[in-house]
Amino acid sequence: MVLSISEANVSGKKVLTRVDFNVPLNDDGSIADDTRIVESIPTILSIIERGGVAVLMSHMGRPKGKPNAKYSLDVVAKRLSVLLDEHVQFVPDCIGADARQMVAASKSGDVLLLENLRFHAEEELNDEYFSKELSELGDIYCNDAFGTAHRAHSSTVGVTHFFNEKFAGLLMQRELKYLGEAIVNPKRPLVIIVGGSKISGKIDVITSLMKISDSILIGGGMMFTFLRALGYSTGSSLVEEDKIQLASEILTQAKTMDVKLILPTDVSIANSFSNDADSKIVSITEIEDGWMGLDIGPETSKLYSEVIKNAGTVVWNGPMGVFEFSNFSHGTRSVSQAMVDATTTGTITIVGGGDSAAAVSQFGHQTNVTHVSTGGGASLEFLEGKSLPGVTALNLE
Ligand code: AMP
Repeated sequence: MVLSISEANVSGKKVLTRVDFNVPLNDDGSIADDTRIVESIPTILSIIERGGVAVLMSHMGRPKGKPNAKYSLDVVAKRLSVLLDEHVQFVPDCIGADARQMVAASKSGDVLLLENLRFHAEEELNDEYFSKELSELGDIYCNDAFGTAHRAHSSTVGVTHFFNEKFAGLLMQRELKYLGEAIVNPKRPLVIIVGGSKISGKIDVITSLMKISDSILIGGGMMFTFLRALGYSTGSSLVEEDKIQLASEILTQAKTMDVKLILPTDVSIANSFSNDADSKIVSITEIEDGWMGLDIGPETSKLYSEVIKNAGTVVWNGPMGVFEFSNFSHGTRSVSQAMVDATTTGTITIVGGGDSAAAVSQFGHQTNVTHVSTGGGASLEFLEGKSLPGVTALNLE
């Protein structure tokens, strides 16, 4: 069982809180998208409004274990100050005497942000000494960084060994609630939509999800490996040759299980990988040599929208096409719109992070679905049924 920070007695306590401030930056070093900072605010407020001190820690980018001004969290401290309308104290190193001194001098209601954890190689090595140093900056521990919960690092796992009291932040709790209910006790029918480009990264998820879902809709680049498994030509579409056999086994397995594995019926093909390519809509059986599929077709969009509309729960991971090209974004947009429409009639709609989350936000739909996961990799591993080290570490024995 995991306890929520809202159940913790935080008054007068320093709450060492792992957040996910791994925000994308513009070339000039400014923040390109502050969603992750905004998402952490309920947890921070829950701590400071009840008289605690929020000592925040995060990684950003890949500084490879060394200090690098380009990845300093100073810029995040400034943005967070604006969002909270309160001065956020920036701590120039995440461990050491100065950090300990700043934390010791803090008062109830203060917010401190430690410098990038990954300026120390020990963070990703889950180093015990480094974990202990971090632990000295808090009386109790809270993890609100779902996006890194699938990694056993010092700030997500090692540090927890030094605390008696550990809690999940409000965002983490929300993720566990929606993703957990989707796999353990879903409102049925449970529909899973799998798209994107990497079949190798998602094949295990499809296999696990076949056991619990009622329908699986396939789209995006991965559909072509399935089409090849059915014996169709796919032109120069993306295919993972070494996964054709596996796709074929999945198709056979789906027939013996009580799950509908649904493939597109039509596809938008192009004569080059470009938004301005010549394109046409064809049946999945008519992809000619020299052409590649870059989106599901309108008939498929309609079919998938209908399945989504009649679902109790929908979990979506991976775009239906190359949505970054406006001419091939229609399938992804219509699935996103169907998710929004289904939400209004009571369907639980969950977007599983990564590129599908980016697509939903590009269409302005992020607040009109039930839940958009903040962790692409973590949500996939969770859906696969794997336990996440950062969550296991919060479990009470
Ligand atoms: P993933 O990381 O597996 O979720 O893949 C996301 C990427 O898949 C996006 O950048 C899409 O542009 C890409 N994608 C989706 N459909 C296709 C397709 N038919 N061909 C090539 N790439 C695709």
